[in-house]
Amino acid sequence: NAESAMKQALLSGERHFYFDPATQARMAEKLALENDLRQAVEAQQFVLYFQPRVDLARGRIVGAEALIRWHHPEKGLVPPAQFIPLAEETGLILPIGDWVIRTVCQQVAQWQRTERHVVPISLNLSAAQFKGGRVLDTLHQAIAQHAVKAKLIELELTESLLMHDPQAAISILSAFRSMGVRLSLDDFGTGYSSLAYLSRFPFDFLKIDRAFVAGVPDNVEDGAIAKVIIALAKQLNLRTVAEGVETEEQLSFLHHLGCDEMQGYLFSKPVPVEQFEQMLREHVRLSLPTYPAGKHSP
Ligand code: C2E
Ligand code: MG
Ligand code: MG
Ligand code: MG
Repeated sequence: NAESAMKQALLSGERHFYFDPATQARMAEKLALENDLRQAVEAQQFVLYFQPRVDLARGRIVGAEALIRWHHPEKGLVPPAQFIPLAEETGLILPIGDWVIRTVCQQVAQWQRTERHVVPISLNLSAAQFKGGRVLDTLHQAIAQHAVKAKLIELELTESLLMHDPQAAISILSAFRSMGVRLSLDDFGTGYSSLAYLSRFPFDFLKIDRAFVAGVPDNVEDGAIAKVIIALAKQLNLRTVAEGVETEEQLSFLHHLGCDEMQGYLFSKPVPVEQFEQMLREHVRLSLPTYPAGKHSP
């Protein structure tokens, strides 16, 4: 790419190189964003939104995922897809990741004191947080400092993060396990997993990626994949969570396959903390439609 081409040119002592204006503009924009992101870390311009997770059998909120947003002074609320990759590239994901862990622990600890119904909150981890066991230290400290119940914290990890060094991953996951936190395998089906390793990783939940959920019930291949994933999870004693459920047809189809929990716009988008607290307090029993078997069943 242009960036490495430029580095190459600089290293080889070449003084005259040329990028077309579009590439120059892109590079300048990226640099500006990197600067802004450094300041954002200093000024703590981040905020967590919460997206509820619903248990179909109980018809209740049984958890939520904490999802980061960046309150940019000029651009407003920036979604993670627009800055997490850059944060990972620049190493800024380390302080950001620490902030997420501390903030979730602090928030859950507060709910432990003030709310009647507290549910486990999950957070997403990036690969770099694993190096040198940093994430273990941060998590251990945050849990101790805020006296949060470990079973109310859940970590979401992706296949690619684990498969980079499966042996190291197994030992870190075991350390998480002995702390008492819950573990879920995020975006399942999109990375390269080895089925051999899958059974050796001590997960509690398997989250089916939105890519497959989006296709059901109409896309036969996606339906088949969802079915196999749910069956596999049952064999391995993992609970399944479908991500990105948007329609009642998807809900019905996945429900019939035996999917345990769901998360998606059908129930709620990720919402600011006050709004999520309201949902917790209402402790509503969601009226999940009961479907006549057959209509959308696989
Ligand atoms: P993810 O962990 O797979 O999170 C689920 C994403 O799907 C969220 O996007 C959520 O808003 C979106 N989603 C949920 N239900 C629906 C639905 O019904 N329809 C559609 N179209 N989308 C739905 P979001 O919040 O933009 O986050 C995107 C990704 O950014 C996350 O994917 C995760 O990989 C990453 N991310 C978010 N927060 C953090 C964080 O604190 N740390 C790290 N390392 N990554 C994060
Ligand atoms: Mg996630
Ligand atoms: Mg996911
Ligand atoms: Mg994802």
